[in-house]
Amino acid sequence: MEKDKYFHSVSLDRDECKGCTNCVKKCPTEAIRIRNGKAKIIKERCIDCGECIRTCPYHAKKAVTDNYKKIFDYTYKIALPAPTLYGQFSTAKDINIILKALKLLGFDEIYEVLTGADMVSEATKEYLKRAGIKKPVINSACPAVVRLIQIRFPNLVDHILPLMSPVECVAREARKSAVEKTGLPEDKIGVFFISPCAAKMTSYINPLGLEKSELDGVISISDIYGECASFISKLEADEDLTKATASGLSWAISGGETKSLNIEKSISVSGIRNVINVLEELDDERIDDIDFVECLACTGGCVGGALTVENPFVASARISQIAKNYDISYIEKGSIIPEDLMLEKEIEYIPVMNLGKTMKESMEIMAKTQQIYETMPRLDCGSCGAPSCNALSEDIARGFAKELDCVFKFKEKLNFLINEMNQLDD
Ligand code: SF4
Ligand code: SF4
Repeated sequence: MEKDKYFHSVSLDRDECKGCTNCVKKCPTEAIRIRNGKAKIIKERCIDCGECIRTCPYHAKKAVTDNYKKIFDYTYKIALPAPTLYGQFSTAKDINIILKALKLLGFDEIYEVLTGADMVSEATKEYLKRAGIKKPVINSACPAVVRLIQIRFPNLVDHILPLMSPVECVAREARKSAVEKTGLPEDKIGVFFISPCAAKMTSYINPLGLEKSELDGVISISDIYGECASFISKLEADEDLTKATASGLSWAISGGETKSLNIEKSISVSGIRNVINVLEELDDERIDDIDFVECLACTGGCVGGALTVENPFVASARISQIAKNYDISYIEKGSIIPEDLMLEKEIEYIPVMNLGKTMKESMEIMAKTQQIYETMPRLDCGSCGAPSCNALSEDIARGFAKELDCVFKFKEKLNFLINEMNQLDD
């Protein structure tokens, strides 16, 4: 996959797009416009939340992930299943059956991402005890939320937990141990994440706070679901392959990460609109008595990811049921310190929402936007291809759209011309 600073997993199938504007209205960062009858994603603004994939009635929005056959490019193949996978199969009450099915797909070894979740939980507990850190600390496990903060909430960037994601922790361990175990060179070992969401694909291409991802690919849960399900129906749990813990499993569900930290002054929020509301309140310093905020872009947490198959509430109930069979965590208290999992680079603000290149230019465009907006019908109908009258006013002020893109303005102009012609006729 080619490196691109603004690579996004979420993309458009132009042939399927009908220009209906459903996705335009649902995008939380106003990253979509209709141009020449088709949706266009402004890639700087997209956070890969997957809302447009869920919304599009014509399935024109897709997530680009790796085809699972890519694993056969490697001699030794390692699967890193997200805990969300365990809630997808009605017939699999035991995780071992699901892991066995993954092996039948062709993987040589499985490293469960939930073990990384336990490591991050332990390191976070230690991190939260440190003096001088900005509170509340905001979790960094959801790449869509981190990206949202980077582009829209510059004041909150240094509240983001500066630790690697569970999947990167596990990928690092898996590769190291496979090299020792097999004696193979690193490039013969393929490490693949089985992902519930598009944002994880984007963070593999452009990893947050890391020079390079330890992954060799990201496969969507929906891509392997069918084949896995067909194996599962014939398998029995006669091998102990899982290292599951109740705490690691709970990371698939909103509130799981917070619960694993066992701290009182914390909140958990899921669903991108709810996340934006909470971040706005944090930005305005209206929330001041909280130490930790868990934000997950998908409703219900990762179980609500756009690349899953099962209803998120059903998947969530299944995972909670499975978790009852396991210990809370196997990680010894204090055995992992934040330095073990620290990001290599600072997470930075990305000023893509600025209207102009300089403050002066931005102020001028803002004033012009306001002037144009005053003349708009302010119905936010979306017929122009922008999400709101304000967004169209901004596009006009920046030179990306014309006043007559507004259907009401167009009608006004047409009526005016007809009147003029009638008068001339008279
Ligand atoms: S929802 Fe968006 S991508 Fe889907 S058909 Fe409508 S305009 Fe096109
Ligand atoms: S993935 Fe989210 S942010 Fe990106 S275009 Fe779709 S709705 Fe907008």
